[in-house]
This record gives sequence, structure tokens and C-alpha cells, in this order.
Amino acid sequence: MKVARQPATDSSSHQLPVDRSTFDQLMVPVYAPSQVLPVRGQGLRLYDQGGECYLDFTSGIGVTSLGHGHEAVVKALVDQAHALWHISNGFTNEPVLRLASALTEATFAEQAFFCNSGAEANEAALKLARKQAGTDKRRIISCQQSFHGRTFFTVSVGGQPKYQDGFGPLPAKIDHIPFNDPVAAADAIRDDVCAVIVEPVLGEGGIVPASAQFLRVLRERCNATGALLIFDEVQCGLGRIGSLYAYQQYGITPDILTTAKALGNGFPIGAMLTTKNIAKHFSVATHGTTFGGNPLAAAVALAVVTAINDAAFLARVQVAHQRLWSGLEKLVARFPQAFDHIRGKGLMLGVALSRAAKGKAKEFQKLTEKHKLLVLSAGLDVVRLLPALVVSDAEIDEALEKLTRAAEAFVVTLPR
Ligand SMILES: *Cc1c(COP(=O)(O)O)cnc(C)c1O
Repeated sequence: MKVARQPATDSSSHQLPVDRSTFDQLMVPVYAPSQVLPVRGQGLRLYDQGGECYLDFTSGIGVTSLGHGHEAVVKALVDQAHALWHISNGFTNEPVLRLASALTEATFAEQAFFCNSGAEANEAALKLARKQAGTDKRRIISCQQSFHGRTFFTVSVGGQPKYQDGFGPLPAKIDHIPFNDPVAAADAIRDDVCAVIVEPVLGEGGIVPASAQFLRVLRERCNATGALLIFDEVQCGLGRIGSLYAYQQYGITPDILTTAKALGNGFPIGAMLTTKNIAKHFSVATHGTTFGGNPLAAAVALAVVTAINDAAFLARVQVAHQRLWSGLEKLVARFPQAFDHIRGKGLMLGVALSRAAKGKAKEFQKLTEKHKLLVLSAGLDVVRLLPALVVSDAEIDEALEKLTRAAEAFVVTLPR
């Protein structure tokens, strides 16, 4: 960039004036960020460059579930920063062993593999599933509309062709079935299948909870054929729907579970959890990553898991759900021109737009921003709400008030 630079003596690049337009000049254009440029956060509040305050109902896409600047998490990071940052997987470290202990104690899993993102957790799960299967058992079953990440393998397994366009040829033997279609599942899961991967609640694909019957059929067919059942809980896990992991609420146990997003409350970390019997097919040097389970990430994640894996904390998520849900029901009833229905679980909620508002989730999102509320969309037709799990009753009421103001401005733009 041809910005006049200070002489490169001290830490001058830290002081270089930047704003939203710098993004368009310097960043590879794979994102279209908001004009709001946050510089500081506390709890559910974000403050932008101009000092304007926003109520954050995005949590950085279900990541900062404990809110911005959570005290115990900041302390874990700072303490660990003074002790040890990184040593490579040529050594193990205390924080990662404690984190593995916390996650295996809290779940069906007996062993953990740590990485840096949701995509990498799924990549590991899919590679492991292929690795342990025979040569005549290579097929992977996934769902239409699903999202599993942007690595080449995970984007191929994901069920949204728009993310695959232009990257072919894609890896072979990956089939997609309609989400929540038990008949299609029963038909697709045959003896040549090594893995079935599913989000218990579809996230990017529109906030759609799986039916218990669908997950049950997946489990039964995997048992019958020897395929591994992978639950991608990258978005719906870690208390997001009111249980530590979604599988526990459904009462259906996968063979492999992937978790990321909220695991580090914003510090990058992901994990694949599984049983010893399955994990043993990954032997030394068959898989790995430089940063996976490094002490900084692990120390932060341990603080996060400790805070979320608490009965009172998880019960509060359900109480907050009730309040937000009933408020949203009133909103939908008041603005039928704009909204059709609400769906989701816990604090992973979607407001589906009406026929008249179809395709306009981004427009509605811009209006809430004007009213100092940040929300997400899931596709073009669903407004997605993922507040931090520590959201207060007052913050829920404030969000509902702002949504109402935004809806008033929205409906006048719609055809009658
Ligand atoms: C976000 C997401 C991913 C990808 O996670 P990254 O950290 O972006 O790689 C995978 N699966 C689901 C369900 C997600 O929501």
C-alpha cells in the first residue's frame, strides 16, 4: 500500500492510521466486513473506532460465548503468556493435558486431538474415518446445506455447492442427502460407507435442529454398517444449545465429535474427540499440526470449558432461551409481513423471513446495525442470533426492543 510511512525505526506500524477503507486496499477480498470497526469489547458490548457502542448478538459467530473480556479467560491467557507460549508437539505440556482431561471427563470421548479451527477438527475426523476403513469402504455421507469448513476436504464434504465452485476436481466418494430425511439416510448408509458427518443443529445452513428420529436412524445405520458417526458440534457445542454438547441433549452418542468456535472464546483452537479404539488408527506421524494444543490455546480453552461445564451455567442458557424465544414470538406475530417463524435451540436461534422478505436477511441486518444491535444471517432468508451465553435478561429485552425498531423500518421497504 502506498500510505506514507513513518521511518521504520520503532513500533511505528502499530500507530499507522487505519480504517475500514484500508481493508479494501490491503486485504484479500474474501470477506465483506461491516463499516463498523470494533476496537474494544466488554461482555456483550462492542465499541467502534468512533466510540459508538453496539449490543453484540453475534459472539463473533458463536465464538465469544463468555462475552468479550471474560475475567477468568483473560487471566488464563495472561498467566500462561508469562509462563510458556509454544514448544511444538515434540513435547507435551501441562495445559493441554489438563484440557484433554476436562473434555474426556465431560463427554463420551477417551482421547483428544487438538488443532486450530473447526475445519481442521473436521479434516482430522474425516481423515481418521478414511484411514481406519478398508479399501472397499471409502464413501462419506454428508447433508445438503451442511457446513464443515473451508479446507479442501471439508468444503467438499460440506453440502453447499457455492463454496465448492471453481475448486474442482473434488475428492471422490462423497454423497449428500437431504438434512432430516431418515428415509434417504437409511438408503444412503450402506456397507461401502466409512463415515457419516452431521451437524446436530445446522448452523450456516439456516439454524435447523436435527430431528431426534433423523439422528437415531444415522446411529442405527452406522452401527449396522460399521460406519463412523461424526457429530460436527463446532457451532452448536459448548453450551450453545443448553447442554455442554448437543449429543447429550439428544441422547445419541457419536463416534467422533468435533468442537471449536467457542472453545477458546476467540483464541483459535479446535478439537476432535473420540474413543481409544478409533483413535488408535492414527499412529505417530499420520496426522498433526504445529500449533495444535499449544500451551496458550490450551490454557485459555481450559478456562472456557471450566466456566461452561457447570450445571447452573447451562441451566441459565435455557432460561435465557425462554425469554428470547417468547420475545421473538411476539416480534414475529407483530410483523407477519417480515417474519415467518422462529427455530433453533438454546441461544442458537433463527428468525425465518416471510415470503415477502425473502432474500433480505442482509438488509435486515443492516437495519439492526443502525439501531446499534449486531446480528448475523444464515443464508439469505434467516436472521441468526448467537448472543454470548452470559447474556442478561436486560440485554435480551434491549435486543428485542432494537429488533422491533429495526422491523418497523424493515416492513415499510417490503411489498404489501
Ligand atoms: C464454523 C464452522 C466450521 C468451520 O470452522 P472454522 O473454525 O471456520 O474452520 C465447521 N463446522 C461448523 C458447523 C461451523 O459452524
